[in-house]
Amino acid sequence: MAEKTPVRGRDILLLKEGEIVLKGLNKRNFEQKLISNVIRQMKPFGAFRIYAAQSTVYVEPKNDFCDMDGAFEAAKTVFGVVQVARAVACDKDKDVIFQTAKNYLGDALSQAKSFKVESRRADKQFPLNSIQLSQYVGGLLSEEYPHVPVDVHEPDFTVSLEIRDYAAYVHGKAEPGAGGMPLGTGGRAISLLSGGIDSPVSTYLAAKRGVSIFPLHFFSFPYTSELAKDKVIELGKQLTKYCGGMTLMVIPFTHIQEEIRDKCPEAYFTVIMRRFMMRLARKAADARECGGIVTGESLGQVASQTMEAMGATEACAGIPIIRPLICSDKEEIVRIARKIGTFETSILPYEDCCTVFTPRHPRTKPKMDEILEAEANLDVEALVEEAFAGMEKIRLE
Ligand code: ATP
Ligand code: MG
Repeated sequence: MAEKTPVRGRDILLLKEGEIVLKGLNKRNFEQKLISNVIRQMKPFGAFRIYAAQSTVYVEPKNDFCDMDGAFEAAKTVFGVVQVARAVACDKDKDVIFQTAKNYLGDALSQAKSFKVESRRADKQFPLNSIQLSQYVGGLLSEEYPHVPVDVHEPDFTVSLEIRDYAAYVHGKAEPGAGGMPLGTGGRAISLLSGGIDSPVSTYLAAKRGVSIFPLHFFSFPYTSELAKDKVIELGKQLTKYCGGMTLMVIPFTHIQEEIRDKCPEAYFTVIMRRFMMRLARKAADARECGGIVTGESLGQVASQTMEAMGATEACAGIPIIRPLICSDKEEIVRIARKIGTFETSILPYEDCCTVFTPRHPRTKPKMDEILEAEANLDVEALVEEAFAGMEKIRLE
């Protein structure tokens, strides 16, 4: 355990684990995954020692050349972490802790309107309990900065002290982490990514629950332009901040849509088209060993998102369809899109494949026998094979 002696004198990051602390025997697996995700996210910012102890992932720079601002921002995008704090380690001695707090947070503290000290003692061997430690250090800081009053209820600035197994830690303001579960602990899924507002958000939310994402886009060239595809690539790139590197699959969809337009009743265009999307998504899922399909559908948003229409489309999938937005209002979806930074790209005005052959009066309650009758005019299998064979793969980092 000696190797865990924390670095002294340099800023480190403390990443508080979220829901995974509730896991029983499996916790170790979740934690391992989390650590490897943190390692990957920290790579661009320098050389770090990264390990977990006491429900916290420690990110310690190995030298003075690490970009701690960059690392801090990146840490806030790691799923499975509920809080990120920039901290400094010191010996577990009450006077050393006070000195460290003064050196590390003195500037910020002297400008604050009020402050309090908050302590947590994970190491019960430490001679003072958390209240005693807060009072001791708070008292000395008050003498040092007499113009900054103590306010234990609504402090402007909080000095946090943590007594852990291997060291004491001092930190100022902590920021919320990304929450959720570590990426890769929730299985693998195909995520249907259009250029709209909803599907980047549904992709993000599935990833937040730990799902490894394999994005798939249906491309209707020349009815939709290269620019529409570029927009999806751009959205995919923006999502890598949360989802890690991904390979975007682009499936040519034009022939299928033209066949539907030419051979099926107009009111059924959309539902039949969406059934093709599901068949192709399933095929992609099998090829990539994915157990589900993520979509941005929201109940009642459009004709194809009624319960009846979704029932008719998911019949072609045969694996779970995950719809993170099913009960979200547009307003709530937009709020998340803004937060994750995809909104501005999503509203760029390029056409979507679904709008190319939109029927004037789509059936909101499609009948299965009528769907099957319409599909009998098509060589479904051949169309699926042809489209799948035309798949293009684009690496997103
Ligand atoms: P979005 O804003 O995500 O485009 P939407 O509200 O426009 O969603 P639809 O166009 O009906 O809804 O699509 C519903 C879902 O089907 C999308 O959220 C997406 O998951 C998937 N989808 C739609 N069009 C495509 C496409 N061209 N490629 C891949 N997936 C698509
Ligand atoms: Mg759309």
